[in-house]
Amino acid sequence: MAGVTPMMAQYLDIKAAHADALLFYRMGDFYEMFFDDAVAAAGALDIALTKRGKHDGADIPMCGVPVHSAEGYLLTLIRKGFRVAVCEQMESPAEARKRGSKSVVKRDVVRVVTPGTLTEDALLEARRHNFLAAHARVRDSAALAWVDISTGAFHVMAMAPARLSPELARLAPSELVVADGEDRVVDTIADDLGIALTPLGRASFDSAAATRRLCALYRVDTLDGFGSYGRAELSAMGALIDYLEITQKGKLPLLQPPQTESQDTVMQIDAATRRNLELTHALSGGRAGSLLSVIDRTVTPAGARLLEQRLCSPSLALDVIHARLAAVDFTRDDTRTAEDLRTALRKTPDLDRALSRLSLDRGGPRDLAAIRGGLAQAAAIAATCHPDDLPDLLTRALANLTGFDALSGLLDAALVAEPPLLARDGGFIAPGHDSDLDDARTLRDEGRSVIARLQRDYAERTGISSLKIKHNNVLGYFIETTATHAGRMMSEPLSETFIHRQTTANQLRFTTVELSEMETRILNAGNRALEIEKRLFETLRAAVLDHAAAISTAARALAEIDLTTALADLARAENWCRPTVDGSRVFDISGGRHPVVEQALRMQGETPFVANDCDLNADSRAAIWLLTGPNMSGKSTFLRQNALIGLLAQIGSHVPADRAHVGLVSQLFSRVGAADDLARGRSTFMVEMVETAAILNQADDRALVILDEIGRGTATYDGLSIAWATLEHLHSANRCRALFATHYHELTALAGKLDGVENATVSVKEWDGEVIFLHEVRKGAADRSYGVQVAQLAGLPATVVARARVVLEALEKGERDGDAATPKALIDDLPLFSAAPPAPATPPPAPVSVPVLEMLEDIHPDALTPRDALDLIYRLKEAA
Ligand code: ADP
Repeated sequence: MAGVTPMMAQYLDIKAAHADALLFYRMGDFYEMFFDDAVAAAGALDIALTKRGKHDGADIPMCGVPVHSAEGYLLTLIRKGFRVAVCEQMESPAEARKRGSKSVVKRDVVRVVTPGTLTEDALLEARRHNFLAAHARVRDSAALAWVDISTGAFHVMAMAPARLSPELARLAPSELVVADGEDRVVDTIADDLGIALTPLGRASFDSAAATRRLCALYRVDTLDGFGSYGRAELSAMGALIDYLEITQKGKLPLLQPPQTESQDTVMQIDAATRRNLELTHALSGGRAGSLLSVIDRTVTPAGARLLEQRLCSPSLALDVIHARLAAVDFTRDDTRTAEDLRTALRKTPDLDRALSRLSLDRGGPRDLAAIRGGLAQAAAIAATCHPDDLPDLLTRALANLTGFDALSGLLDAALVAEPPLLARDGGFIAPGHDSDLDDARTLRDEGRSVIARLQRDYAERTGISSLKIKHNNVLGYFIETTATHAGRMMSEPLSETFIHRQTTANQLRFTTVELSEMETRILNAGNRALEIEKRLFETLRAAVLDHAAAISTAARALAEIDLTTALADLARAENWCRPTVDGSRVFDISGGRHPVVEQALRMQGETPFVANDCDLNADSRAAIWLLTGPNMSGKSTFLRQNALIGLLAQIGSHVPADRAHVGLVSQLFSRVGAADDLARGRSTFMVEMVETAAILNQADDRALVILDEIGRGTATYDGLSIAWATLEHLHSANRCRALFATHYHELTALAGKLDGVENATVSVKEWDGEVIFLHEVRKGAADRSYGVQVAQLAGLPATVVARARVVLEALEKGERDGDAATPKALIDDLPLFSAAPPAPATPPPAPVSVPVLEMLEDIHPDALTPRDALDLIYRLKEAA
């Protein structure tokens, strides 16, 4: 590194160790970036790119962000897919000088900020988890481990390698750690789901090292107390911890003992189904319009996070579902208790995230105050409820809210009501808590009043009433007058007392011996007060961390209570019912509604939602409903509402229906024919077929499948054949419960042949040539598709609609008469639309009848108004 300044040498050294991240290199009040980092960051942040010095003869590009507003820039960079290594000054310039005149201030990376390792409120979404996951494969077994370091949640799950995609879709981690050189499939999955992928050396995935890391983390000799883990699980957990050590530079967050999840305990829902059912995001991408956004009535961030988690992982355990339903029932009926609980919950700060920051040594006085506030509300909530008549789930939750009296007492006494953000500024310890601190503060404050007195004194002595004593970081305390007083101040006798320090454009600045002495006293007292406060902060932090496990249990209990009362509130307000959930294979819904569509209609002031029944019973009668009906009649809505009702029942919620009986659904599948899937911009028919294949290969006899217009993405007969065969397979091989919407009326014939298939249709009324949607689902097949009428409603030009009617009529007539003419032959034979000759040169073959042709002869299409054309069509039709 010849010719490189010592500082640049240090920079290059540190940068080399963090090649995959942007390096935020601390210089005074700024984080500076150099070289390619600077170019990339300036572009991403839209800030000025400057230069500083030269390297290898070329200018060094540079840009920087102020330390005090760095969080906002960090957030932008993380959102844009960067990782940022934050490099701090580890000593003051004075300390560096002491080591030698040419010494550069010691610097080191204190943290690598990545999407999965955020802890600051400003960088996180309060109401969402932020998971960091690791995927490990050991021969044929695979595992996924995930943490939310902002709350301490830690989970692990062994799984078949093929389950990676649906599990990642369920968890939606923001970052996935994989072994270097992991196969391409993982890349594609992560890319599809928009998860940042971080490759890590294979050594990090070593399962033996993992055991050591876990034992060290939990300070135990063996992991037996936590459960037994396979090699893949250990490998995934070990990689996570190693990655946390790398990014947090050895400061490990407080993690709860790993909870083992199993793919058999949650309803399986793959990525396509989640997207299609708009569980947490609408198809348009935003959150508005998703199921979550419509049902979320939680009042705490932790409750909101729990709801999202539940919604993504409905349970398969009947006892768990029943316990949750009983708790929702109770709070739904006992509105007073529920309201009291919610009032207290609204005031509850985010305990989890405060605790996590404190454990990572990134917390401040406000985090201590959050713990104080959270524990106070926990105690208030425990006092609100009287355990005798409570359902088990609430009794258990309440039992976890108490036992913090000593800690609460300490925090109450120690902290002021509204502490500042940063511990280093002081001012958060309440007066009376520590006598040393009180003394130091008195001294410091007295000093301040002495300064005020000095100012009055000096103003009098100099006769300059505008004289001020001010303070800044460079000069400390100084006396300031306007430049007009230069003559008097700089000559005797005043110049004996007032020592000139600085002249600015309009001001003169002085000091005095007295002022300097005073300053030293104030500084000393102030510094001493700060030192004491910092020490007290550490004591309080330690006291909180001593109770970390119990606090996080209490936080979980509060979230559970929040979610329970939120679901009860929703059920009451929206008039939902408690579903019966059991081990049968029944799916019997009366008066079911689609929560999102219902709300949208209400908000638009449209006609109210029409409730519909659905009755599938795989144990005895028909397990499959074949649904036909015109476009826009409500088929998709009906399909989805039933999937959502099944899902809501299994998260332990009431459901939008008058009555619901749901036999456990193990897997939920939802697919939409290709034409609706354009947004994804792939060969849509191929996607549709791949997804359908996944269902046919995977759905077991407890699955609930909804298929909407499968086969639509290809030519009619292809599509019909595929839909036909799919329906047969679902019926005979998968034997699952299914709703199958199609516009192929030919399929309705299958109901007669397959005893598990029943026809249903959404009724419409035809009136004066127009179709009116009733949105009522009833047994039976639709008589026709009303496509032409719907096209008319959509505003297709009247001439086109009229022409379509002619073609349709011809086609239908051909079919009725058993005419052998294929659609192609008919189309060849029908006179062309715009160029229809007044009299065809050759007599047209059947099925277009002769009187019609005669009428056509008199028509001059260009002279017709749309209205005339339509009338004419009606007359033609009568004549045909
Ligand atoms: P399809 O799948 O048959 O084309 P959709 O399910 O997309 O029809 O429904 C079309 C529109 O009809 C919806 O956007 C909604 O506004 C309305 N709709 C659907 N179902 C109902 C219902 N049960 N009650 C009232 N309006 C409904």
